[in-house]
Amino acid sequence: MRVLLVTPPMIQLNTPYPATAYLTGFLRKHAGGLGIAVSQADASIELFLRLYSAPRVRRMAEELRARARSAKQAALMPPSIAHFLQHAERYEATVEPAIRYLQRRDPSLAFRIGGRAFLPEGPRFEQAFAETLVHAFGTLGTTEQARYLASLYVDDLADVWRIGIDPRFELARYGERLAASAPSFDPLQEALTGEPTLVDEALDDITRELASAHQPDVVAITAPFPGNVYGAFRMARTLRAALPKATLVLGGGWVNTELRSLRDARVFDYFDYVTLDDGERPLLNLLTRLHGGQAPLVRTYVREGSEVVLKTDATQHDFPARDTGTPTYDGLPLDRYVSVMEMLNPMHRFWSDGRWNKITLAHGCYWKKCSFCDVSLDYIGRYDRPGTDVVLERIRALVAETGETGFHLVDEAAPPAGLRALARRLIDEKLSITWWGNIRFEKTFNHELCQLLAESGCVAVSGGLEVASDRLLELMKKGVTVEQVARVTRAFTDAGIMVHAYLMYGFPTETEQDTIDALERVRQLFEAGCIQSAYWHRFAATAHSPIGLDPDAYGITLLPPPNIQFAHNDVAFDDPTGTDHDYLGTGLRKALYNYMHGVGLDVDVREWFEPRAAGSDDTHRRRGGRRRAKSAVPKTTVSRDLIARAID
Ligand code: SF4
Repeated sequence: MRVLLVTPPMIQLNTPYPATAYLTGFLRKHAGGLGIAVSQADASIELFLRLYSAPRVRRMAEELRARARSAKQAALMPPSIAHFLQHAERYEATVEPAIRYLQRRDPSLAFRIGGRAFLPEGPRFEQAFAETLVHAFGTLGTTEQARYLASLYVDDLADVWRIGIDPRFELARYGERLAASAPSFDPLQEALTGEPTLVDEALDDITRELASAHQPDVVAITAPFPGNVYGAFRMARTLRAALPKATLVLGGGWVNTELRSLRDARVFDYFDYVTLDDGERPLLNLLTRLHGGQAPLVRTYVREGSEVVLKTDATQHDFPARDTGTPTYDGLPLDRYVSVMEMLNPMHRFWSDGRWNKITLAHGCYWKKCSFCDVSLDYIGRYDRPGTDVVLERIRALVAETGETGFHLVDEAAPPAGLRALARRLIDEKLSITWWGNIRFEKTFNHELCQLLAESGCVAVSGGLEVASDRLLELMKKGVTVEQVARVTRAFTDAGIMVHAYLMYGFPTETEQDTIDALERVRQLFEAGCIQSAYWHRFAATAHSPIGLDPDAYGITLLPPPNIQFAHNDVAFDDPTGTDHDYLGTGLRKALYNYMHGVGLDVDVREWFEPRAAGSDDTHRRRGGRRRAKSAVPKTTVSRDLIARAID
C-alpha cells in the first residue's frame, strides 16, 4: 500500500513545515513492517515556484492585459498592476533568476540585483529608500542587500497575483478567511465549486502530477493553519477525480483546534476520514485497517448516513515522544526553498530566511497555565519529554540526512532543564549546530545558563511578554513579571543571543492606560537592548482556553455563538471596560515597526497615536500647527528608568 503525506499551500517558503517529516519518520518506523510505503510532498513550495515561473508570469500578464483592454479600465488599475503590465516582459525574464538567487543557487547574481538595474522595481520598493539600504548593509553587504531587494520584488509580484488574479492568494496563506473560525462550510464550498483562477489551475496541475507520480492508495493532507485549508480541500477535490479509489484523510493543527464541533457532512465529499490531535496513532490504526489488519479507529471522524460521527477507542494510547521516530525530509526538495527577508531587522528574518531543520525537546508545554492559551487541547496540555539522548540522536540523523546544521526548536515553550541538558551534551560531544527556539522568560535563564546556551550554538530565542503589565500578566497566569523579563532578556542579549517578544493587546479588562504603559515598558526594553524584535497580537478569546471556558472569571461575557457546523475557535465577547483596541492597535504597530528599525526610541509613546477622528484633538491641526496633539492618549504612568533599574 502506498501512502502520500502532503502539505497543501500556502505556508512558509524558506523551509518545509515539519508535520509530514515527523509522520513520515514515524510511519517508516512503525508501519514499514506492514508493507506500507510512505512518501511526502510539499505542494506549497511547488505552487509558489509554479506561480513564480516565466510561463505563469506571462499568462498572468496576458490575462490582466485582456481585462485592461479599454483605456478606462487601464486607468482604474491599482499601481501594482499598472506597473507590472508596463514591465511584464522584464518580470518574465527576471523571475526565474531572482528565485534561483533566493534559493541560494546563483550567488553571483547579487552584484546585478544590487546594481538596481536588473529587477523591475514596483511599489514595494518605494518603501526601501536608498539611504536605508546603505545604512543597513554598508558597502560590503552585497549578498544581503540583493536578498532584500529580491524579496521586495517577490512581494510586488505577490501583490499582482493577489490584487489582479486571486484575492485569496498570499505568500504564506491561501484562502485563510474561508476557514478561520468559519461556522459554516458554505463559503468554502462556494469557493471550491466556483470558476477556477490561474492560481487554482496551477494547484490543480500540481495535484494531478503528484497523483500520477506517486499513484497513492492513501493521501493524508495536513492543514496546520487556516491558510492551508482551502488548498487542502482543493487538492482533495482534484484527487477525487484523478484517483477515485484512493482514501483521503485530513488532519493537522487547524483540524485539532477548529474542527472539534464538526457537524457538516459535506466535508466527507472531499475526505473519507478526519483525524484529531497527534496524527501518529490515528493514522497508524487507520492504515492498518485499510491494509486489511485489525485496529480500532482513534479520534477519527467519519460520515455515517448524513451524520458526522467521531470514532475513538479509549484503550488506544498515543505513542510516547521517545518512540515517535526520527523526522525525515526524504522526498522533499530541500534545495528549492526560498529565503526571503521581510524587513531590515536581524531577528525578524529567522522566520523567513534560512533552511532550518525542525525539532522539539518535548511534546506540549511544561507550564500549561496561561489563560489565553489552548491548554485544554492535547498539543499544549500533554507534556512529554523524550530525553536528551533521543533528541541528540534525532539531531545527528537530520544533520546526516540534510547536510545542514541549522535547527529551529519548535516547542510550545522549550523546558529550561531540557535546554541545559542538551547544551551540555552538544558541547561535550563537540556537535556543532546553530539553533533557536521558543521559551518562557522565566528566572531560570540567568547569565550562566544563557552563556551555556550560546556556547552550544543558540543564536536567538522568542518568548511571550504578552501585555507588558504585571496586573495583566498575573490575570493571564503567565508566571512572569515585566522586571523579570527585563533581566532574563538582558541575560540572553549579553550572551549574544537575539530576543523576540510576543506581545498582546486587548486582553480582558485592559484599559487605555494599561496599553500606553505597556508600550512604554516595551520601548524601554528595546532602548536597553533587552529585545531586538517583537510582534503585537490582538487578544482573541478561544473556545479551548481557560478564558473561553470560564469568561466570568475574567470579567467578559461571551456573545451567543452562531450555529457551528464547521470550524470553531475564536469566540466573540463583550468587555465592559470598553477600550477602543482598534484605534490603539494602529499606534502600537507603528511604534513597534520603528523600534525594530532602531527609530523613535527617544520619542514620547503618545506620539505614535494619531488624533482621534473627531473631538478636541483636531484643534491643534486646524490652527495649522505641525506638532501632533499629545492628548490623543494618556501620558504613561511608568517611570522612565523602570527597565534600567530592573537590569541594574
Ligand atoms: S502560552 Fe506558551 S507558556 Fe503559556 S501555556 Fe501556552 S504554550 Fe505554555
